[in-house]
Amino acid sequence: MSSQTVSRRVTPTVLVGRVAIGSEHPVVVQSMTNTDTEDVKATAKQVAQLARAGSELVRITVNTEQAAACVPAIRERLDMMGCDVPLIGDFHYNGHLLLEKYPECARVLDKYRINPGNVGFGRKRDKQFATIIELALKYDKPVRIGVNWGSLDDRLLKAMMDENAAMPDPQPAEIVMRDALVRSALDSAAEAEQLGLSRERIILSCKVSAVQDLISVYRTLAGRCDYPLHLGLTEAGMGSKGIVSSTAALAVLLQEGIGDTIRISLTPEPEQSRSDEVVVAQELLQSMGLRAFTPMVTACPGCGRTTSTFFQALARDVTDHVRQRMPEWRLRYDGVENLNLAVMGCIVNGPGESRHADIGISLPGTGEAPVAPVFIDGEKRETLRGEGLTHRFLEIIDEYVDRNYPEKPA
Ligand code: SF4
Repeated sequence: MSSQTVSRRVTPTVLVGRVAIGSEHPVVVQSMTNTDTEDVKATAKQVAQLARAGSELVRITVNTEQAAACVPAIRERLDMMGCDVPLIGDFHYNGHLLLEKYPECARVLDKYRINPGNVGFGRKRDKQFATIIELALKYDKPVRIGVNWGSLDDRLLKAMMDENAAMPDPQPAEIVMRDALVRSALDSAAEAEQLGLSRERIILSCKVSAVQDLISVYRTLAGRCDYPLHLGLTEAGMGSKGIVSSTAALAVLLQEGIGDTIRISLTPEPEQSRSDEVVVAQELLQSMGLRAFTPMVTACPGCGRTTSTFFQALARDVTDHVRQRMPEWRLRYDGVENLNLAVMGCIVNGPGESRHADIGISLPGTGEAPVAPVFIDGEKRETLRGEGLTHRFLEIIDEYVDRNYPEKPA
C-alpha cells in the first residue's frame, strides 16, 4: 500500500445491509446484474458470481411485477448458497407501485435506487416520490437518489434553461445541464429529508458519460452537501475504452477524497464475464493505494532484451494462480491481499524490482546465463532453471503465504 493517504470528504455513515458506506469506511465496490430478474436462477447465479469476485453490493433491475415477485426468491436462493451480499433494487417509473404491491420485495432489498428524473411525471411526480420514501421509512431502508443525464428531470431542466436564457449574460447550455443534475439530486434529497428520511439513509449519485463532465458535476455536488456519494461513469463503453474512461474520471475524484462507493459500468463483450467490472473497480482502488483486495503482480513490459514469450506466460500464470487461490486465501489468511509479487524479464531492472517485492523472480534476458534468481523479502534465496520453473515458483508463493500470514480464527 502507498504511504500517501487521501483525505476523504466527511460524510455520515449509511448502512446498506451489513455494509457501511461513508468517509469512515473503505470505498465500497458495487456492481449490477444484466440478467432478467424474472429469471430467479440466472439472476441469483450472477449475483453470487459478482459477490465471489468481490462485489460488496449488487444491484438488480426491478422493472415489472413479476420481477418484484421474484426478488424474495432470489434472496432466498442466495442465502441457501451462503451468499449474504446486500441486494439493491433499481427502480424506474413504477417503483412506487412495485414496492407497495410486493411488500416482501420491499422488505428483502437492502436499498432502493430511484431516479428523480423518472420517478413520476407532471402532478404525479411528487406523490410517487413521496410513496417511495414512505415505503423506505416503513421498511427502514436507505435510498440512493441516482440522477442520470440521460433521464434528467425535464421540468427542472426546462425551468433552469428558461431562467438562464433570461439572464443578461447566459451560461452555455452544458453548464446549465451540469447544474441541473446537481440541483435535481440535492432538491430530491431535501424533499426526502422533509418526508422524514434521515441523513443516514441517503446516498447521492449524478452520472454522466463524459469524463470532464463527471469530474465537474461531482466536484460541485461534493462541495454542496455531505451525503455519501456513489461514483460511476455511465455508459462507459466496451473494453479498454470503458476501463480507461471510468478510471480517468474516478481516479481524479477519489484522489480528491470524493466518492464512497464505486461502480465501473462496462459493456461486456458477448462472452465476457460480468465480473470483470468488479475486478477493474478493485484494481483501481488497489493501484491508488486506497484498498487492498488481492496480491499485486508487478511485471515489466518486456523489450528487446526479453529472450522469449516464456516471461509473458509466467506473468500470466502467476496472476491466474493468485486469482484462483484468493477466494480460499481470503478466508484463511489474515492480510494476504497485501502480498506483492514481481515477474521481471532481465537483469536491468529484474533484481532491483524483485527485491522490492515480497517475492520476485528475475528471468534471464538476452546473453544472460539461463537461470532465474528468486528474491524473498529482499534476499536472493533460490535459483530456478529448466522445465519445472513455473511449478516451483508457484510453490514458493504458496509456501510464503502459509508461512507469513496468520490463519484467521475458524
Ligand atoms: S526488466 Fe529487462 S526485459 Fe524487462 S523491460 Fe526492463 S530491460 Fe526489458
